[in-house]
Amino acid sequence: KRLVSGLTKTRDNIVSGMDSIFHGFSKIDDDFYEELEETLIMGDLGVRTTEEIIEDLKAKVRERHIKEPMECRQLLIDSIKEQMDVGETAYEFEDRKSVVFVIGVNGVGKTTTIGKLAGKFRAERKKVVLAAADTFRAAAGEQLKEWANRAQVDMIGGQEGADPASVVFDAVAAAKARKADILLCDTAGRLHNKKNLMEELKKIYRVIEREYPEAYHETLVVLDATTGQNALAQAKEFNEVADITGVILTKMDGTAKGGIAVAIQAELGIPVKYIGVGESIDDLQKFDADEFVNALFY
Ligand code: GDP
Repeated sequence: KRLVSGLTKTRDNIVSGMDSIFHGFSKIDDDFYEELEETLIMGDLGVRTTEEIIEDLKAKVRERHIKEPMECRQLLIDSIKEQMDVGETAYEFEDRKSVVFVIGVNGVGKTTTIGKLAGKFRAERKKVVLAAADTFRAAAGEQLKEWANRAQVDMIGGQEGADPASVVFDAVAAAKARKADILLCDTAGRLHNKKNLMEELKKIYRVIEREYPEAYHETLVVLDATTGQNALAQAKEFNEVADITGVILTKMDGTAKGGIAVAIQAELGIPVKYIGVGESIDDLQKFDADEFVNALFY
């Protein structure tokens, strides 16, 4: 139910527009497809993904000799789900000893999201250690510390400007000593300096490989859904410097641009793993593509 309420604006943006097309057209013609296409693009599904969805819909309509616009509704829902298919979308790291790197540019909600994740795992009785390895930003560590306190988990930090890899090194030692289930690392997100970012991440990954080879690891990128197409562009850029295994879309509660989740999964083949639907610690939800599409359309 929370998912639906968090998606009200996105739903209004995409689905009401579409339903007025299904009702407004008496036959399936080029105008019909054009209007649908426009609605999907306005709904932030992305040009490429939209074109594929429309092509797929046309093929289905031809194959099944469909004549009524209203009959296209379910076919369209199916096409969107198919576009979003990224195979298994498990939350692998939740079930084993893991190191989870979280990256994302300033202001997207990275700190808040790490706090929410820590709170969620702690509520599931998992042992969590936070690593404040985004040492570039002044006050990033302090802000994360507040969230660590709120979530009641331990945090390992470093001085501003400290080597992020050394913070991760210390955090791994702490995670092992405390038999932590999940080590959550707040890492940098300076996209304007991709080469440095890549070097920094490589160095951090090396620390993990050497010091904590038994742990499973993932890299999640946090994106602000309210930025729409820009979030997709950021995901692409981060994917060039790191092996991104999942996306967290924040601020889904306040935006009509939630359709970007479709574009991200369709264009990058990377699963959206969680969405942020508010500012407090429990405003984080697991994301499932089918559930998401169902919440929009039914
Ligand atoms: P960071 O700079 O990426 O670490 O971003 P912060 O975690 O400091 O968050 C920036 C702002 O976004 C803060 O005001 C957060 O409360 C807000 N924020 C983060 N996630 C969400 C969300 O899912 N929904 C809403 N409405 N606000 C959020």
